[in-house]
Amino acid sequence: MEPRKEGADARAAIYTRVSKDLTLEGLAVGRQLKDCLALARRKGWRVLDEKFEDNDISAAGGKHRPAYLRLRALMEAGGVDVVVVYSADRLHRNPRELEDWIDLASATGINIHSATNGHIDLSNPDGRTMARVVTAFAAGEVEKTKMRILRKHLELAEAGAWPGQKCYGYTADAQIIPEEAAVIRELAARVLHGEGLNAIARDLGARGIPTARGASWRAASIRNILMSPRIAGLRVHRGKVSAKGQWSAIVSEETSLMLRNRFAPGRATGQIGGPRKHLLTGLLVCSKCGTGMVKCVNGKSKKESYRCPRNVGAAACGGTTIVAAETKAWLAEAAFQFQDARVVGQTEATSEWLEQTGALDARLEEIAADYAVGAIGRSEWQAARAAIERAKSALPVPIVRPRELTTGAMLRSTWDSMAVSVQRAVLDDVFVKVVVMPRRQATGAKSFDARRLVPEWKQ
Ligand SMILES: [Zn+2]
Repeated sequence: MEPRKEGADARAAIYTRVSKDLTLEGLAVGRQLKDCLALARRKGWRVLDEKFEDNDISAAGGKHRPAYLRLRALMEAGGVDVVVVYSADRLHRNPRELEDWIDLASATGINIHSATNGHIDLSNPDGRTMARVVTAFAAGEVEKTKMRILRKHLELAEAGAWPGQKCYGYTADAQIIPEEAAVIRELAARVLHGEGLNAIARDLGARGIPTARGASWRAASIRNILMSPRIAGLRVHRGKVSAKGQWSAIVSEETSLMLRNRFAPGRATGQIGGPRKHLLTGLLVCSKCGTGMVKCVNGKSKKESYRCPRNVGAAACGGTTIVAAETKAWLAEAAFQFQDARVVGQTEATSEWLEQTGALDARLEEIAADYAVGAIGRSEWQAARAAIERAKSALPVPIVRPRELTTGAMLRSTWDSMAVSVQRAVLDDVFVKVVVMPRRQATGAKSFDARRLVPEWKQ
């Protein structure tokens, strides 16, 4: 098509854009508009009332630019004779877009005038080459800016900088929110003990505990919180832990790792392989031959039982059988009580540590007072102080593990709703194995005798 007339009465559309890209920073829309209007005035063009202004949006990504699209539509409809932009790369910062524009310009005969780099004529080969060069440079600038930003992000990630936003447990400036941190620790303990996410969400809702946004708790929101290494004070970059963060942890790195493993794809039940069908298979061991017992139905009583397998050629003797239901119930209750003892033990270890460090701190104060009143000399005081500090740092700090925070009562109340694989995880956390002794003659085949179960406890 023939180029449109660009005479005194040509209709001109002015396109302005403020971009977040740093390359042409500082050129506000007002400034761009002023320069474009000056050019139109010099040429004697009639500037359309309609404003084509995209604000704070980069053309580099495929983002939505309403004014740009409106302008294109107007050109296609023949509603404008000439387009004025501040500089050509404002209009099309990526080469693919420019080619569209060249097609459009040659189809409509409408030219782009730039207030900074002069007239760009897309209707002839030289003009197009010029536009392509300008665009290629602009695209290069965008790419460089992107690289700079990526490098900056990487630098921050490697330095363990706080990512910036508020998240559950932390304020926007990385301060721990105590109430939310307490909820996170509870969530971690309950999940690691196999409680279902939906059940936990319901419980939090029933207790009136708010989420970060005041919405109701969902399984996904709990999973997202617990899967984030941020709660263990770890910085993540591109989905991987990149550094120790410069903020305080809410849970230990060990706990965070266990939680992430628990939620890893394909580990929905925390169990490798398919879901476990029989709770005690392999945990119960035949006392006669040491083989792991398997689920079966007792030939006489027709009750579900565990027995030593009698495999031809194998070492298994097939000589021991025990009824399933009562054994399960007895072991579960034993596990709950063991867990309670563990929690008490943990509390005792912690208070013992606090007591010992407290005593040493008191001793430090005493010798400082002795020195202050002249009862001992400076060198004596320094020597005594050093000895006490050494004793303090030699005290083993008790490590609190999530399992040591879960009471037997918590387990007992949720036991029946747990998946078999989760129940087994609880038992595995308590028992190394449970040896099953032979049936005694005095008790009959039908009655359950707990004395036949000899657990080997885990520490
Ligand atoms: Zn056996």
